[in-house]
Amino acid sequence: MNKKITEISGKIKLPRRVKHSSRVELSQSALKKNINFIRKKVGTHPRISSVVKANAYGHGIPQMVGMLEKCGVNHFSVASAFEAEEVLDHCSPSSEIMIMGILYDEDVAWAIQHDISFFVFTVERLKLALEKAKLLGKKALIHIELETGTNRTGMTEETFKEAVSFLKKNREFLQFEGVCTHLGGAESMSNYFKIEQQKQLFEDYLKKLRKANFMPNCIHMACSAAALAMPETIYDMVRVGVATYGFWPSQEIYFQHLQSVNKKKDNPLNRVIRWKTDVMDLKLVPKGEFIGYGTSFQATQDMKVAVIPLGYSNGYPRGQSNNGYVLINGKKAPICGLINMNLFMADITHIPNVHIGDEVVLIGKQKNSVINVSSFTNYTQLLNNEMLSRLPTAIPRMIVR
Ligand SMILES: *Cc1c(COP(=O)(O)O)cnc(C)c1O
Repeated sequence: MNKKITEISGKIKLPRRVKHSSRVELSQSALKKNINFIRKKVGTHPRISSVVKANAYGHGIPQMVGMLEKCGVNHFSVASAFEAEEVLDHCSPSSEIMIMGILYDEDVAWAIQHDISFFVFTVERLKLALEKAKLLGKKALIHIELETGTNRTGMTEETFKEAVSFLKKNREFLQFEGVCTHLGGAESMSNYFKIEQQKQLFEDYLKKLRKANFMPNCIHMACSAAALAMPETIYDMVRVGVATYGFWPSQEIYFQHLQSVNKKKDNPLNRVIRWKTDVMDLKLVPKGEFIGYGTSFQATQDMKVAVIPLGYSNGYPRGQSNNGYVLINGKKAPICGLINMNLFMADITHIPNVHIGDEVVLIGKQKNSVINVSSFTNYTQLLNNEMLSRLPTAIPRMIVR
């Protein structure tokens, strides 16, 4: 009884009447440009699967799914059944969902029931899928994931042989939806020898399938970096994550793009996310005093600081302490002192006319200034993905034009 109540209340989202300490804005027009660019790069044949794992790289699954559908995307990849369920709650009935990672035995029937396809890398999983599919009187949609060089999940040769004959024998209940693998480090030239090997191994497996005249509906391999820069890795579908949100997988991939279009500058990818809050308080700090906890920041002159109402518990990296900056009135305000659990301070001595309640930009543009996610990550050694995916789900996300 008690357990049931917690489970139910865990799923209900109560409407909130009061403001959260920060907000995220998501740009529909930026997303549209990104999807159009990816489409142009990969050509008309391959299907684009938008990778929306990690709460859509922190952007928010509930918002991004609808926004992507508006851009013509109707295939979503996630890392877990848990994320798949959230996509299912928000996608249109005609969209497809694919689980690339963790799907527990007890959730296999759920996935089959909802036509959610999933990666399989053991024969045991095929047997379980068959059993559940028979019980449901419905086909399980199977992607065979192959080991080609990352040594994460993926079948090796022996298992592959066994899996293929099992699939063949049980066509009635197991749909051979896909064959796939994941490249380990396609964003960096220094990994190309490894990527080449992966591609070769994958081709060997495909040859075997062709010989057996047993092909899946869909062959897929490329992530963002590969989709944008390595056409030879593009088959029937591309699984694009980071580029969807307007980030280049790496500098190298960006420069490669510039070369391919023979331009010195080109910005076809646009950041979808903007993260904002407001000035909570203003304070005059006399020369010689310390700001915040401890003594890490001492005012070397009389200063004016703005108090910002969020901290590391809200996803703002503590590594930004005494580093980095926010935007107020279109100007950079350097962070002074440590990032606290839910407060930090920024120097506005040089910025006139700041008032309590003024907009503060944590990520994104304000007037002529910009803070990129990468400006965080330079200081904190976080990856773009890491920083974004840690943005708490509690932050409200609003879709803007
Ligand atoms: C995360 C992920 C992707 C997408 O990677 P990006 O570099 O963000 O495009 C594709 N495939 C698999 C298996 C993944 O885990």
